Amino acid sequence: MKRLGKNLDGYHGETIEIRAILQAIKVAAHEHGWNSETFYKIGDLELLALHRPPLGPGNSEGTSRIYLSAGIHGDEPAGPLAALSLLRENRWPASAEVWLLPCLNPAGFVLNSRENDGRFDLNRDYRHFETAEVTAHVRWLERQPAFDLTFCLHEDWESHGFYLYELNPDERPSPARPMIQAVSNFCPIDLSPVIEGREAREGLIQPNLDPASRPQWPEALWLLQNKTRQSYTLEAPSDFPLPTRVEALVAGINAALEFIGRNNEPA
Ligand SMILES: [Zn+2]
Repeated sequence: MKRLGKNLDGYHGETIEIRAILQAIKVAAHEHGWNSETFYKIGDLELLALHRPPLGPGNSEGTSRIYLSAGIHGDEPAGPLAALSLLRENRWPASAEVWLLPCLNPAGFVLNSRENDGRFDLNRDYRHFETAEVTAHVRWLERQPAFDLTFCLHEDWESHGFYLYELNPDERPSPARPMIQAVSNFCPIDLSPVIEGREAREGLIQPNLDPASRPQWPEALWLLQNKTRQSYTLEAPSDFPLPTRVEALVAGINAALEFIGRNNEPA
């Protein structure tokens, strides 16, 4: 599979009707027993937080708390579509408690723009909180427990294939390689030795981050500092057809869920 070659100075691919997608997400979440909370509104556009309680017996032993978010960049439609697919597939491990935020920047999707309607990149606002969306998101996050793993779904119009950022400072068991392996069944992997200015190995970037030295924080860095010790940012290549990118994100998350489910089984 080759790049389409049309996304050369930005994203020029498929767009989505975000109101309809969010409505479908709500329906799928309701059908599968998730709780839904609207934690912020921009006009009629809702920032939704979905929560799936653990299905097992009510102990926290062996339960993984998993956080997923998508749609922080309004020109990356595969994320919210992957969230919808994952909800419809409903393949979550019984031992998992899951929080899913399917679209953090609905106003950006209306404009097909990376930024929100005030031209802020929300994924650079997790240190200074200048936008209403990120302020509301962090307030919501502060009410949640700590997460075992977090996943942020993204796309990159410059990349030659899928790649993955891993923040795992304690070197916990890592789903990174199984995720990349699973994605490779559907979508090319970006094998470049340097991606976005960082050293990469076969599609995996493990940045050595000093948060204090970064003037602007992405969501993943705030999560690492405040809510988790293990964070993954999935990047689907937007110069490929949209269904391929959705499949890539879904396959990556499903591989991580299988890895988590296996790790939670009693020895
Ligand atoms: Zn992005």
